[in-house]
Amino acid sequence: MIVDFHTHTFPEAIAASAVDKLQFASHTHPFTDGTVAQLRASMTAAGVDASLVLPVATAARQVEHVNDASIRMNDRGKETGVYSFGCMHPDFAGWHEELARIARAGIRGIKIHPPYQQVDFDDPRYLRILERAGELKLLVITHAGLDVGLPERRDAVPEKLLRALRAVGPVQLVLAHMGGWRCWQEAARLLAGTGVYLDTSFSLGPMTANGDGYYTPDALERLDGETFAGMVRLFGADHILFGTDSPWEDQKRELAKIRALPLTGEEKENILGRNAEKLLFS
Ligand SMILES: [Zn+2]
Repeated sequence: MIVDFHTHTFPEAIAASAVDKLQFASHTHPFTDGTVAQLRASMTAAGVDASLVLPVATAARQVEHVNDASIRMNDRGKETGVYSFGCMHPDFAGWHEELARIARAGIRGIKIHPPYQQVDFDDPRYLRILERAGELKLLVITHAGLDVGLPERRDAVPEKLLRALRAVGPVQLVLAHMGGWRCWQEAARLLAGTGVYLDTSFSLGPMTANGDGYYTPDALERLDGETFAGMVRLFGADHILFGTDSPWEDQKRELAKIRALPLTGEEKENILGRNAEKLLFS
């Protein structure tokens, strides 16, 4: 089973404008139009069996509404192959009960995004969410490192991730983008051995510009295959989850990039689906 642990879709009515806005901010190329329909077409073309959608609440008032949509998406998951995490915003007053509602609805975890939510990951408002998620056995996936669309924000750099991990009780934490986008050396130095999971999204090989001339070729570089494989071994292949960040990468191409890495067949199987199956479907 191939599982993409990191994808984004938007409601039909706003997909085009949401993808456009993000593309404008990040200067990167979208590979779908942001709808579930095109994600499903991409999965068929790539041979991806299940995709996990990670919704981000950029304002507290969106939380319940977005989680209602996540619950509906999961209800159809068996037939569509598209599943969803819930969301949480650090300023949402009803966080305590809402996390319990998410868990009761059978959602396996939540997504948080410090740069878009403009709060440091080690802020008490996130720590209480991490603590509560741990109690409820909800996974937490967070954006980690810098953000391509908000390059000046440092809300989720590895030192803040580590400080938060040390401050809270046990919680299963997934750090997107190999532990810290464009902070990969610090991520390796500070976060290896902490038991965190990493997703592989938007990290391997050069990124794809949207053609507006903003980036020089050098500025598109991310992790090369050898460094990437080194990080897999450092964190353990049983703690790495294949993710693409679709629409911001092409699922088929990302799959081929992972398959071409200098790793064993078993390591690749763990990364491409087995680890995710254990976390999401067991
Ligand atoms: Zn993402």
